[in-house]
Amino acid sequence: MAATAPVIMRVMASSISTAKRAGGIIRDILKKGDLGIVDKGKNDDYDPQTEADRLAQRSIIASLTKKFPSVKIIGEEGGSDLNVSDDYLVTELDEGFLQQSCPAEWKDAKPEDFVIWVDPLDGTSEYTQGYVEHVTVLIGIAVKDSAVGGIIHQPFYQQPDGELGRTIWGLKGLGTGGFTASPAPPGQFIITTTRSHSNALHQKALNAFASTEVLKVGGAGFKVLQLLEGKAHAYVFATPGCKKWDTCAPEAVLEAQGGCLTNINGEHYVYNADVEHANRQGVLASLGQNHYELVAKIPAEVRAAVGAKL
Ligand code: AMP
Ligand code: MG
Ligand code: MG
Repeated sequence: MAATAPVIMRVMASSISTAKRAGGIIRDILKKGDLGIVDKGKNDDYDPQTEADRLAQRSIIASLTKKFPSVKIIGEEGGSDLNVSDDYLVTELDEGFLQQSCPAEWKDAKPEDFVIWVDPLDGTSEYTQGYVEHVTVLIGIAVKDSAVGGIIHQPFYQQPDGELGRTIWGLKGLGTGGFTASPAPPGQFIITTTRSHSNALHQKALNAFASTEVLKVGGAGFKVLQLLEGKAHAYVFATPGCKKWDTCAPEAVLEAQGGCLTNINGEHYVYNADVEHANRQGVLASLGQNHYELVAKIPAEVRAAVGAKL
């Protein structure tokens, strides 16, 4: 079955197994206590990177490269050292995922059509500050220009049996798995947004929504999980700091569930290998809403400031 499944099914199944292994690495490094933090921020921005970001990325990229040598993979942490010990090399494919049938639209996609966007640890600031439930591993699968499949793994999610970690997946045309979808409460409008990258213009965008509550949490993956689980109605981020590896997997999972993730102008980002990594025009995501009514609420002044077309 595995050897004959279409490439997208094997890439998804391999990414599920690989994301789980990365989650184990992230837990182990926190348990050992030496995070090996360096600041990779440009100018005055503080942008921490830990040993967990580095090793999780090497494990993911080495594993996926070995299985899919002609697929382009772009990871947040740069670097090309793919020498990892066998302990970090994941060879298995998630068998449960492979039991499903491939949506017709992706059956013939070739390895050259894919770009895999990897954020080995989304929510690094939160990881270093002890907000570990915000941390996710993101593996996004683009076919040509579009985010099509995604894995969001939460290393510190506590299962009812006490086991740590859960893995959520989505593939457009197939659906989602690994969580129980729930609608956000009617009669309220809850926004989820950044806890560490706000500014005055971003605050103006938030104010335009007359929300009943604003949740400030870390990571693009965790915020989209809040939409999927009905904890919030919209994810608003009206500054340019988010990157393609932050949004590819969340966009695919959210849209496989019927939601929408765009820039603040309502346009989808493009995920081929040649695009710039920055999502300069911010992020607006929603589930169960009229997405374009939300787009219309963002003040023109904010759109102009993040370079969106008016
Ligand atoms: P946040 O919502 O602030 O947790 O950000 C979501 C993702 O975008 C995280 O991976 C952040 O590291 C990244 N991000 C957002 N804004 C910035 C920024 N100004 N500089 C660096 N990374 C950012
Ligand atoms: Mg990130
Ligand atoms: Mg990261």
